[in-house]
Amino acid sequence: MTYKRVLLKLSGEALMGDLGYGIDPKVVADIAQEIAEVVSIGTQVAIVVGGGNIFRGVKAASAGMDRATADYVGMIATVMNAITLQDALEQAGIPTRVQTAIAMQEVAEPYIRRRAIRHLEKGRAVIFGAGSGNPFFTTDTTAALRAAEIEAQVIFKATKVDGVYDSDPKLNPEAKRYTSLTYDRVLTQDLRVMDGTAIALCRENNIPIVVFDLFVRGNIIRSVKGEAIGTLVGGSCETK
Ligand code: UDP
Repeated sequence: MTYKRVLLKLSGEALMGDLGYGIDPKVVADIAQEIAEVVSIGTQVAIVVGGGNIFRGVKAASAGMDRATADYVGMIATVMNAITLQDALEQAGIPTRVQTAIAMQEVAEPYIRRRAIRHLEKGRAVIFGAGSGNPFFTTDTTAALRAAEIEAQVIFKATKVDGVYDSDPKLNPEAKRYTSLTYDRVLTQDLRVMDGTAIALCRENNIPIVVFDLFVRGNIIRSVKGEAIGTLVGGSCETK
């Protein structure tokens, strides 16, 4: 089975490589190349990109900044990532549109759901920047929201780890990776796949989430082809 329309969630940290802060253009080019392969086999790809490589609202708030204001800065940071990724995708030959939830019309289109779907149907990648446009949310929740809105069949949560474990594999050598698990277990055991709001939204709208290691070459296309990699979070079965 090959998915027809997917939503890829990239954390901001994925774009920073080993730099510790900001954007590593080489890493972004590699990710763009993999996304380009997926688009070129006819899969419609929407992307939500985070901003943690530049600014996190919660962190700034804990240092004394007003939380809502800090979150707006965080959302604006995601737009820098979105535009950088757009550039890399276009250099890889994929026409790409950025749509933002906070108006920034000189650099990106506003978020318009029907227009986003139209872009996807025309074979363009669509990157959603500025999160949901609301403070106190995350880009994971944005991914769940946008996936529901554009009727994506699946969310790919591409991270630095190769799936979801029953305990921290860095601390516990016996930790086991789930191949599949339910939304309910993620929520009750606080398994940190995505935040609770995102998981609840996926559960309500029956959107499966595949968690996999972004930095294994070919993983994005393998996931699109339905190969069992990483961990599948969904409605019913559980296996380790
Ligand atoms: N943010 C927000 N509302 C949203 C999405 C994001 O306020 O709908 C802010 C929030 O401050 C967050 C920052 O943007 O810390 C960056 O997003 P996130 O932490 O989700 O990025 P990631 O962890 O994926 O890099």
